[in-house]
Amino acid sequence: MKTDISLEEAQTLLLELVQSVKECQVPLTSAVGRIVSQDIRTNINLPLFDKSPLDGYALKAKDTEDANSSNPVILEVIEEVPAGYMPKKQVTSGTAIKVMTGAPIPNGADVIIKFEDVKREENKVELYYPLRTGSNIIRVGEDVRQGEVIAKKGAVLNPPLVGLLAAIGVDAVSVFSKIKIAILSTGDELIDPSEELRSGKIYNSNLHCLGAYCSQLGAEPVSLGIVPDEEAAIVERINQGIELADLVITTGGVSVGDYDIVPTALKKIGADIIFWKIDMKPGSPIITAKYKNKLIIGLSGNPAAAFITFDLIVVPLIKRMMGIDKELPVKFSAILAENFNKPSEQRRFLRAKLQKNNRINYVELTGDQSNGVLKSMVACNALIDVPAGSGPLLAGQEVSAVMVGSGSELFI
Ligand code: AMP
Ligand code: MG
Repeated sequence: MKTDISLEEAQTLLLELVQSVKECQVPLTSAVGRIVSQDIRTNINLPLFDKSPLDGYALKAKDTEDANSSNPVILEVIEEVPAGYMPKKQVTSGTAIKVMTGAPIPNGADVIIKFEDVKREENKVELYYPLRTGSNIIRVGEDVRQGEVIAKKGAVLNPPLVGLLAAIGVDAVSVFSKIKIAILSTGDELIDPSEELRSGKIYNSNLHCLGAYCSQLGAEPVSLGIVPDEEAAIVERINQGIELADLVITTGGVSVGDYDIVPTALKKIGADIIFWKIDMKPGSPIITAKYKNKLIIGLSGNPAAAFITFDLIVVPLIKRMMGIDKELPVKFSAILAENFNKPSEQRRFLRAKLQKNNRINYVELTGDQSNGVLKSMVACNALIDVPAGSGPLLAGQEVSAVMVGSGSELFI
């Protein structure tokens, strides 16, 4: 068992132990948010044929060479083509075909002029200026070309991509299966928000915060409920989680206090402990183990610690398991917008908000940075990475940070 390892070592050790889950087919109607499991190529061109971008007349540009306002060119209108129908006739010199937006360009025509720019008299149109060959024609394959990869393995199916798949005639798509994540809350003090508050008790926020995060990532959270700080109960629920889910997360009971018995429970189960404790604040007492080929991650119970270690360590694992590219949080540098007066003996992550001003990244703290404080997590979309041995931080200095939460690259 390793101990006191760096965040980066922890991330690497765990990522090596997981792979993306199985694939399945889903109908396009329920594909949003899922992850593409195989490159998707289009079998057709988009658009499928040269078409008109507006209501107008299809004709030969050459016929308009001598047109001007006092000497208009007059063409005979020989057909009308609505969108959804093929022209039956061909445009020849001296003729025009009326076309609606989206209608195929008739053979023989090489330009479209819009309705508003001509004068129509019975079956004749008058044109007042010369036209350039090719204007107002949307070309076949202008959007996507037959054979082109339109979605790569690992891409998130966002609404426009769902639309693009529909446009190329795909109605079912191969995606990675949803992973199930079991979440167990340990602690004698915890009660569910649906229960009556009793003295000495607190509401269980971790289950709801982390469960919501799993859902937002497209995974399926499975609640293992609340267990008291009792080894037998923890052992039983973790075993249940291993049967039900692809990954098991626990919160609470991982420090070295008298009631911190998740590590003992994991040993009792016979799980292989990968590491216990990482060298950062908050959330240093994290414990991780492998059992029956699945991972169990025991996070600190402090809400902010649980959230931050979930962001930095569990989210990359979930992404890898779900087949999402670029698992690790994106790093960036930014200017600190305010002072942070405490020195940091240990490496520390601060809850912050990234804002851009004149293309410069600024990070401002989102409030109280204590381990148990929930409020400053709400606006947090970035974590400032403060190296061990840093003194107080000053407004205006450059800092390193990572993107986290729903503002992460996953959703960009
Ligand atoms: P622990 O990690 O068990 O030592 O818990 C650290 C702190 O987090 C304690 O103040 C707990 O009451 C609190 N805590 C533990 N689990 C939760 C939870 N699920 N929701 C909210 N607070 C919790
Ligand atoms: Mg506890």
